[in-house]
Amino acid sequence: MMGEVGCKVIEDLLTLYIDGLTSEESNGLIHQHISNCNQCKEYMEALKSDEISMPNGFDEEELAIVKKESKIMKSIRYRLLNIKIAYVVVGALLALFILREERALQSIIIYPLLGVASYGLVKKIWLPPIIVTVVFFIGSVVFLGEGMPIGIIAIICGVLTLIGTIMGYCIKKIWF
Ligand SMILES: [Zn+2]
Repeated sequence: MMGEVGCKVIEDLLTLYIDGLTSEESNGLIHQHISNCNQCKEYMEALKSDEISMPNGFDEEELAIVKKESKIMKSIRYRLLNIKIAYVVVGALLALFILREERALQSIIIYPLLGVASYGLVKKIWLPPIIVTVVFFIGSVVFLGEGMPIGIIAIICGVLTLIGTIMGYCIKKIWF
């Protein structure tokens, strides 16, 4: 009778089994089935690897707390990234205004510097250049509204920022 249990039943049980919620009897069924069925065994391994790896000796309550905390950490990390992106946007706006005020070619060096700083902040190579290009383009249209080839300059600033983020990436690889 025990051998009659189908894969579907085992699949349903496995999620509970991983969380330690199944009875001894169910565990027996699962162990027996797994030893004969590679498909379900792989499914169990996949489920296990999705779980947070936990040192032995955690009880259910602690497990629930850790899971909840990891969820909170995820949302904090997500919010932190949003804040960092906001800083990059502010940096891009500042650079635009500096460039507008100075009107000197050498002030364009602010973009590679912004790139390095932005990489240090968000740890992403492509995001800051895209932000800078978009901010420059929209900012120029809104605040400057001049007959400059704004699109081309926006892309140049984006490329300069990209050089900065790549430099930031290299600095991180070499020194850290
Ligand atoms: Zn199976």
